[in-house]
Amino acid sequence: MEYEFRVIVEKVSVASQEVVKRDTVKIYDIRPPKSIIELGLRHEEQISLLTKVQNVLLAEQSALIDCGYDTCPNCGQKLKRNGFLQSNFHAVFSDHKLRIQKHRCNNPECNWQSTPTTTTVFGTDIHPDLAKLQCEQGALFSYREAQSNLEKINCSGRRINNHTRIKSLTNQVGARFSQETLREPSVQECAAPATELIVQVDGGHIPVKEKGKRSFEALSAIAYQPTNIEQVDQHHRQITNKTCVVSAIDDRLETIKSFVLNAAYKQGMTARTRITGLADGANNCWSVLRSLESHCQDLECILDWFHIAKKLENVKNALGEAFGESLNSVKWSVWHGEAQAALTKLRLIQDNVSDDVQQAKMQGLHDYLKHNLAYLINYEQRKSSGKVYTSQVAESHIDSLINARHKRQRKMQWTREGAHNVLQIRAKMVSQEWSKQWQDTVLDTLINAA
Ligand SMILES: [Zn+2]
Repeated sequence: MEYEFRVIVEKVSVASQEVVKRDTVKIYDIRPPKSIIELGLRHEEQISLLTKVQNVLLAEQSALIDCGYDTCPNCGQKLKRNGFLQSNFHAVFSDHKLRIQKHRCNNPECNWQSTPTTTTVFGTDIHPDLAKLQCEQGALFSYREAQSNLEKINCSGRRINNHTRIKSLTNQVGARFSQETLREPSVQECAAPATELIVQVDGGHIPVKEKGKRSFEALSAIAYQPTNIEQVDQHHRQITNKTCVVSAIDDRLETIKSFVLNAAYKQGMTARTRITGLADGANNCWSVLRSLESHCQDLECILDWFHIAKKLENVKNALGEAFGESLNSVKWSVWHGEAQAALTKLRLIQDNVSDDVQQAKMQGLHDYLKHNLAYLINYEQRKSSGKVYTSQVAESHIDSLINARHKRQRKMQWTREGAHNVLQIRAKMVSQEWSKQWQDTVLDTLINAA
């Protein structure tokens, strides 16, 4: 005996359980699967079935849409039905046409007519779930890659997923997040008062490929309580609760300073909090950290060991084996808080280097340490007392924030503003705030953009 498989949708009275309408959405053959490919429905068929089921549901729902008026908004007279208006609705995986009831004023003198569309009723014709996907794709990939990824997920190209639309939405959502991050957080948004807080500030460059233009700088910061550092395994740690912020705006650090202050508040900073500030040694990073000083009990700024080690490694590679031993000795001195001794050792090595490039590398390292003398501590001691001396979680480093999105694209011409906006979404993802906050912000953006 042969059978077929019908997908039927029914409209049923809740009270009596009587079926008032029945539609056969799709009929499938039931055949023995010859291979795994024939097991169940294929990707494209799943999307197609979903679209058909949604169409039936939407037809029922659009008949119930309340356009918001019982009488004529013009003269107050009774309204009569006046046919239907078709309008677009873009759901997460499918596009639909809604039929919405039109009305006309009964008063012949007035003649008012309604023209209801998805957008006039809801403020937008895009479901926020779709907008969320677009933002996530736009934040992680180039806009053209995002379009292509969404086409793959969807099994077809949709005009709503065009790269220019993804770009525009991502930008607007990012700009909105930027505005929100400038606002001092409410008590509810803040963690319980923290006795100690770590704030890391990091700078990096976003490349601009346009001729005659240089790259521009972005700064990122992350704030967290040391008690939220969790050891995953011997070599990896994670921070269970953190606030990450980033700015590419050129405004003498004003934006990033507000962002960092609000990030510290979110992590529980009060006038009694002791803050440890970690930075890579650039002046603007220290300047951002120093701006927290008047808001907390005290601020200790430390040159991030991660960056010292990286710089030393870099010089070691440039100078080769012969200087390995002596550079290790420099590292030992810095690690044990003997900065002056380290500088003297560096000078001695420099005297034995003849190559110009190597000379420059040595000078660079010397100047770097000398410039940051005030921020060099006894790292050995700090480590043995269990305190933070190096930045944690690489994902919050500006390089990973930027790399994940900006450096991959060779041809993209970034504006500061465009980069700043995209980075806001990435910062929200790193802070693990995106999943909680996307809905309000995306919906606000959709409604206000329409
Ligand atoms: Zn009227």
